[in-house]
Amino acid sequence: MRSIVKLSNRLKIAASYIKDGALFADIGSDHAYLPCYVCQQDTEAKAIAGEVSEGPYNSAVASVSYHNLAERIDVRLGDGLEVLKNNEADHLVIAGMGGTLIASILENGKEKLGRTNRIITQPNVDERSVRKWFLANNYHIAHEAILEENGHVYEVIVADKGEDTNNMMGDGLEKQLLFGPFLMNTKSAFFRQKWEKQMEKRSRVISQLRKAKIPDQEKMEKISTEIKWIEEVLHDDKKQ
Ligand code: SAM
Repeated sequence: MRSIVKLSNRLKIAASYIKDGALFADIGSDHAYLPCYVCQQDTEAKAIAGEVSEGPYNSAVASVSYHNLAERIDVRLGDGLEVLKNNEADHLVIAGMGGTLIASILENGKEKLGRTNRIITQPNVDERSVRKWFLANNYHIAHEAILEENGHVYEVIVADKGEDTNNMMGDGLEKQLLFGPFLMNTKSAFFRQKWEKQMEKRSRVISQLRKAKIPDQEKMEKISTEIKWIEEVLHDDKKQ
């Protein structure tokens, strides 16, 4: 076998949620590093690597061929889930994109997800959109992770098919969508680091909005509420 693929910690954590022997799809699979790594670790695993852009698609084909994995990893060129047949993959991975794009890829291809029992996402921003999509589409959040790599804090959100068992509803729902039901309970150092920065960012936005001739009251209220939530969550943390 060729050398083991060197995977970023971010993708290693995402990959750790793929169960043994899975047939999984990695959508947006630039270089196919994640499917190559998983198939090297687990000789029963098989994968589909989907890419919309020709350059990354060619890199993925080249990686798969270099690692002699072409029999187990099918690299396909296409937009989102259109590369999949109905009921094909039991796991889906979508990593390294914005949450809004991840949610739109899921929404546009949801008829393909009949047997997809686990979806592993790693949104770079706007994680809320992904959590909202899961909630509206009969997936419940089963795991969350938060990590720091090269100066960025990343979240990994894993959802399993079926009823919500985390009680993501009621008054706390909006907070859970923003912070993550597991992450806001655990409140790791990376979580605090992320939300302290986010609070500063939102405070700067409020200052800018106040300077406008006609301040956008609705936007200011929304951001002020979020600042209040962040303060509450970080303050609770200090009390524990
Ligand atoms: N998943 C890898 C990772 O996390 O390191 C690659 C992330 S890279 C920043 C995003 C990749 O997703 C790019 O290669 C891009 O071409 C691909 N992509 C973006 N939109 C896509 C879509 N709708 N369908 C398939 N691939 C897409």
